Amino acid sequence: MDAPEQKRQKADSGAVVTEEQAAEFAAKAQAEGRPRLRILTGDRTTGKLHIGHYVGSLKHRVKYQSLYDTFVLMADVQALTTHYDRPEILKQSVREVALDYMACGIEPYTGGPDDGTKAKIVVQSMVPAIADLTVYYGLLVPVRSLIDNPTVKTEAQQHGFGIKQIKVPKVLVSETYRPFVEKIKARVEAEFKELGESSLHDYYEAITEFWNQKYLIKQEDLESDAEIRLSIDVFLVMDEGNAIYKGDFFASGQMNPWEILGDLLNLPYKRKTLREIILQLKHGRDFTSMTYGFLGYPVSQAADITFVGAHLVPVGPDQVPLIELCREVVHRFNSQYGKKKRVLTSPYALLGVREALQGIDGNAKMSKSLNNAIYLSETDAEIWAKVKPAPTDPQRVRREDPGRPEVCNIFSYHKVFNGEKEAGIDEAALNVATVEEVAENCRGAKWGCVECKQHLCKKLSAILDPMRERRAEWEKRPDDLQDVLKAGTARANEEGEKTLERVRSAMHMDYFR
Ligand code: SF4
Repeated sequence: MDAPEQKRQKADSGAVVTEEQAAEFAAKAQAEGRPRLRILTGDRTTGKLHIGHYVGSLKHRVKYQSLYDTFVLMADVQALTTHYDRPEILKQSVREVALDYMACGIEPYTGGPDDGTKAKIVVQSMVPAIADLTVYYGLLVPVRSLIDNPTVKTEAQQHGFGIKQIKVPKVLVSETYRPFVEKIKARVEAEFKELGESSLHDYYEAITEFWNQKYLIKQEDLESDAEIRLSIDVFLVMDEGNAIYKGDFFASGQMNPWEILGDLLNLPYKRKTLREIILQLKHGRDFTSMTYGFLGYPVSQAADITFVGAHLVPVGPDQVPLIELCREVVHRFNSQYGKKKRVLTSPYALLGVREALQGIDGNAKMSKSLNNAIYLSETDAEIWAKVKPAPTDPQRVRREDPGRPEVCNIFSYHKVFNGEKEAGIDEAALNVATVEEVAENCRGAKWGCVECKQHLCKKLSAILDPMRERRAEWEKRPDDLQDVLKAGTARANEEGEKTLERVRSAMHMDYFR
C-alpha cells in the first residue's frame, strides 16, 4: 500500500458510528459541560415528503433534535443537479418540505440566542458560504475519486450517466395482457417502421415489463381502451417529430411520460426523441455527457456538512461513501492548509437510518410519476386508494389460499410500521394486529388481504393523524413558516461566514484584514 493510500485509509477509519455511540457522544458532551454536538441532515427539495422519508430519516431527526444541535438543510441547489431543467418546482417544494418538517415534529429555531436546542431549517441556496467552500474544496478532489465513488456511480446510473449497457428485462407476457401488447406493437410498428424491428423489440419488452409490474392493466380497461391509449401516448409523445397524440396526453393531465420512461429505463427526465432513446438503449451513455454540477455534487455536499462543523450526518448505508469523501476533503484541507490547526471538522456517518421503503406497488423506487408513494400530507381516503389495489402474494388468488408474507410487500410495510412501538400511539387500544399476528393470519388464511391492508392503514392513520394536525396549523401561518426558514438560514449564515473566514485565512486569502 502506498503512502497516500495509507493516509486515505487512516482518514476514513471509523467513519461510521451507531445510534448507541451517537447517544454516548451527546451524553459525554453534556456531562463535560460542552456545547451540544451538531447534526447536519436534510432533503433535496424536489417535492413533498413521503412515508419512506419518515421511516428512513425524519423520525430519527425528531429524536436527535433533543440531543444534538440540529441543522436541517433544504438542498435546493442539489435538487438542481438533476432538475436544472425544471427550476420552477423548487419554490413550491421548499414550502411543502418545510410543512412536512413541521408536521413531523421538528422544533424549529425562530431567532434570537441559539442554545442548540432548536433545529435550524436552512435554505441551501441562501447560504453563500456553501458555494464558496464548494469552489475551494473542488481544488482538492480528483475527478477520478468522484467518478469511482460508489454512491455517485449508483446515482449516475439512476440518472442515465455512465451506463454502458441497459439491460431490458425479458418478460413473459401473460395471456391477459397479450392482446393489449399486440395492439401496442401493431400501432407502434405502423408508426415507426423506419426505426428497425430489433430496436422496437427492446422497447416493447421494456414497456410490457413496465405495465406488468405496475399492475395498471385491467381487463375492464382493455375493454375501454383507456390503458392502450395511455401506453401508445407514452410511446408516441416521446418522438417529438411524431407527436400525434401529444395534445391528448398533456390535456388529460395524467402522468408525465418522460418521468415514466425515465423511471423505467433509468434515464434522466429529459425530453428525448424515440430515436435517441433507442440509440441510448443500444449504446448507453458515457461520462462525458454528465454535467459538471452532477459529478461535483459530493463536493458541494462536503461544503454542506462542514460549513456548520457537523459532527454527525445521519445516512443510509448507500450514502456512507459520500461521508468518506467528505472526510477525505477535510483531511486534505487540514493537511494542506491547516498546518498544526484543525480548520475543518471531520464528520461521522450516523448509521441507523433504515433502507429505502419500496413503493406501495412493489417497485423498488417510490416515485411521484409511478403514483406509488404515500405522502405525509395525504388523507386516509387517498392512502386507501393506493393501498387497496396494491399487489400482494401473487399465489394468493382466493381468500382461502394460504399466503406467504415473506414475498408480500404489504407485509414488509407491516414490519416497518408495526415492527416497533411508535411514540404517542397506544397500539393495544388501536387494536392493530402485530407483525406476528399478520404473518400467522396470512399463512393460515385466517383473513383476506383487504383486512390485512385495513390493519396497515389503521396504523398509518394513527401515525399520520398528529402530523396532519400540525401541518394544518402551520398551513394557517405561512408568514411564520417563512420566518422559520429565514431565521434558520440567517443562523446558518453566521456559522458559514465564520467557517469561510477560517478557511480563507488558512489559504492566505484574508486580503482585507
Ligand atoms: S394477508 Fe397480508 S401479508 Fe398476506 S398476502 Fe395478503 S396482504 Fe400480504
